Amino acid sequence: MKLAMINQEDMEFNLMNLSSNKPAADQHVDVLILGSGPAGLSAALYASRAELNPVVLTGMELGGQVSLTNTVENFPGFPDGVGGNELVELFQKQAERFGAKVEFDTATEVDLHSRPFRIKTYNGDYLANTLIITTGATPYHLNIPGEMELTGRGVSYCATCDGWFFKDKNVIVVGGGDSALEEGIFLTRYAKSVTIVHRRETLRAGAVLQSRAVENPKIQFLWNTVAEEILGDEAVRSIRLKNLDTGKTTDYPTDGVFIFIGHRPNTQLFEGQLELDGQGYLVAENWVHTKIPGVFVAGEVADPIFRQVITSAGMGAAAAMRAIHYIQEHSGEQEKPQILVNTKS
Ligand code: NAP
Repeated sequence: MKLAMINQEDMEFNLMNLSSNKPAADQHVDVLILGSGPAGLSAALYASRAELNPVVLTGMELGGQVSLTNTVENFPGFPDGVGGNELVELFQKQAERFGAKVEFDTATEVDLHSRPFRIKTYNGDYLANTLIITTGATPYHLNIPGEMELTGRGVSYCATCDGWFFKDKNVIVVGGGDSALEEGIFLTRYAKSVTIVHRRETLRAGAVLQSRAVENPKIQFLWNTVAEEILGDEAVRSIRLKNLDTGKTTDYPTDGVFIFIGHRPNTQLFEGQLELDGQGYLVAENWVHTKIPGVFVAGEVADPIFRQVITSAGMGAAAAMRAIHYIQEHSGEQEKPQILVNTKS
């Protein structure tokens, strides 16, 4: 079974080839936004309405994680819910209407000690008077034998992308948070059965999703159970599960394993230049400020708590408002060496 999953190298190759607008050497912009999820595209909307012509570098995935979500039901203004991809398209369209430029490109290096900031990408260099970091987060792996080998052959981190391949099959979902339940419920559209494997006997997910999952006749739960190995050759055949109460290990037959156990913030690019917390999230002061004036953060990359489309979009708007203010205050100073100022304005 060949699934529609793309590995990191393929994505990098695709991005290099997709980029149509190679920036001129050292393209100098007022506002550069790293990431194109709800935070990045909301920042782009606000900055573009201030006529700052922001450039958004999409990163590996236009729209980030929300574009992989089947239906978003908790974003105001859409009483019947809205598709994740559709929401991203609407965000993008609205920002572009006011002059934002969305580039299929990814930052590979940042220098936040120079002014303007220097950002290297696959396609060239940008100089940016302000930088808004909205690079989001990436799903955690279980790091068990078979997981990596069978990714794309039955192991998946995206039900929306791969659910279709599991029509009338039996699948396992690992995790007990909102993502595991939401994606598990989504998978019941295709799968014959969905077994949610959780390491405790209490779910972390919110009450509404819990009731929906429990009431769904295709969903069953295995509590106090951890995955130890995924088995198969060309495709997933079974998963080795250990019951933590009894210590008993069982090879549980399954056609697919979907893993939803949380996310790692995408902050490697900023290590040594910006402050990270113990989990690797960017530390924000007053919601969107960093210690470097002119560098702002928004969305999941700096939010280990709320991580919702609406909160990320709000942070994006706030970050852009701070960037606009910063530019107004410092226009004409950008070519000078770094001036440390109080950004509480
Ligand atoms: P999460 O809330 O951090 O939940 C991760 C789940 O995976 C937890 O149940 C955790 O178990 C389990 N887990 C973690 N590491 C594990 C491991 N090594 N082996 C087995 N299980 C492991 O992550 P999430 O579900 O991706 O949600 C992330 C954020 O997005 C949350 O704030 C969530 O509310 C939000 N979200 C919201 C919606 C919505 O509102 N519709 C949808 C999706 C996500 P423990 O419980 O034992 O720690």
